[in-house]
Amino acid sequence: MHICHLYPDILNLYGDRGNIFTMKRRLEARGIGVQMIGQPLDIDKYDLFFIGGRQDFEQEVLLRDLAGGKGRDIRTAVEDEKVFLAICGGYQMLGQYYKTWDSSQMDFIGAINVHTIGAKERMIGNYMFRTTPESSGSVIVGFGNHSGTYLGEDVAPLGMVLKGFGNNGEDHTEGARCKNVFATYSHGSLLPKKTALCDFILQTALERKYDTCEPLGPLDDTLENSAHDYMEHRLMHG
Ligand code: GLN
Repeated sequence: MHICHLYPDILNLYGDRGNIFTMKRRLEARGIGVQMIGQPLDIDKYDLFFIGGRQDFEQEVLLRDLAGGKGRDIRTAVEDEKVFLAICGGYQMLGQYYKTWDSSQMDFIGAINVHTIGAKERMIGNYMFRTTPESSGSVIVGFGNHSGTYLGEDVAPLGMVLKGFGNNGEDHTEGARCKNVFATYSHGSLLPKKTALCDFILQTALERKYDTCEPLGPLDDTLENSAHDYMEHRLMHG
């Protein structure tokens, strides 16, 4: 499996790259070799892309690099149904645009039909959501710190909010699911404490690569599950 971590040194907030470690470890535990390939970006070589989050400043810094062809390549990879996991700022950047709280606009990649609107009051805090059956039907506990994102009609949410803000604090949706893109606001290392979603994403990437493949076998997830259960209990009962 060839994994591409997009902008690892710039987009990596609140432990986002823990998601990469988890995907690699869970593939290798099943005897599947993993290669992380760096620059230049040759989208045909990769099966799975990861893009993390960061502040507005870093997003703005990357606009020029995206405009130099990388944005188009990423759009092509999404259209080609390559698998993406995108967190927060990376999620926003796969979308159409971001209007910041002071009304400046950043035009992003436009690979998925979502857009983001900033407000002086940001959505910050732990939250919980349930992914849709099309994305493993798991309960996720995460941490968000972001502006509001709105889904276009052709984009499904990754899940529905059980507690906290989600995409925009209004429509109870959280994240986005479109083609093979899995996008979420959940920082705080999403996959290390939600192995069912991790395996679902890996399975999707394996099926995309090999047309068909055996279901991934179970692993001992005792520690991962207790990390999740602890956070879920803390969020529900204070
Ligand atoms: N700059 C974005 C926002 O404020 C993304 C923040 C993030 O990735 N945590 O909404």
